[in-house]
Amino acid sequence: MRSYLIAGNWKMHTTPADAKTLASAIAEKQMFLKPPHSVQTLICPPYTSIGAALEAVAGKGILVGAQDCHSEAKGAFTGEIAPNMVKACGCSHVILGHSERRQYFGETNSLLNQKIRAVLNEGLVPIYCVGETLLERKQEQTIAVVRSQLVDGLKDVVLQSASKLVIAYEPVWAIGTGLAATSDQAQEVHAAIRGFLKEIFGAVGEQILILYGGSLKPENAEELLAKPDVNGGLIGGAALQADSFAAIIAAACKLAVS
Ligand code: PEP
Repeated sequence: MRSYLIAGNWKMHTTPADAKTLASAIAEKQMFLKPPHSVQTLICPPYTSIGAALEAVAGKGILVGAQDCHSEAKGAFTGEIAPNMVKACGCSHVILGHSERRQYFGETNSLLNQKIRAVLNEGLVPIYCVGETLLERKQEQTIAVVRSQLVDGLKDVVLQSASKLVIAYEPVWAIGTGLAATSDQAQEVHAAIRGFLKEIFGAVGEQILILYGGSLKPENAEELLAKPDVNGGLIGGAALQADSFAAIIAAACKLAVS
């Protein structure tokens, strides 16, 4: 049976009350889908809505994660949140290196390396995002860019098992634009990522989940998720509606048991 992780990145959307409504609606729809154990669902609300989301999905088989965190355990870092704080809230995953963090907040591979190691030390699962800009794709730099994001971001990372790390391939030109990568484009990069993960981690690299992100929606979910190295999705816009998020979960459920 194939394993999938379907993760929603809620970005800077939802007050706690909105999060409760959305998380409850997703949980209700998921109840009818009855996903097999190999299909996991994760929602990543803003920090201030994590508590409300956790309450809404308690006992309903939906994981909750954060969208970022700091690399230090504590200190004078006004406005920041430490990995142990995210863990103590009840989160299981942390998205790191989303292209919006790289683009608007200047996050570099070396900073992300520190964050990844801090998150792993806390027993949280980092979802490390990589992906090329449109210019880099046009210049045929996609594989080189993704390689350096992986090699630099995962430097000195020691993994106990494949389940401790998730990679998300998110071509920057596809995020929030409605222009998803084709399933062949996605598979080509996912296969390259798989190869780099094996170079870095050996046999463990074979089992690490690689999510696709970038305008993933109900209409293209099945085709993208059917590709052999696409192990799930990191979803922005379509994760903000219970119907569309559930339809993507349903596509994963169908493929997992087929
Ligand atoms: C994202 O923000 O990670 C993302 C993939 O967004 P969207 O699905 O809206 O393209």
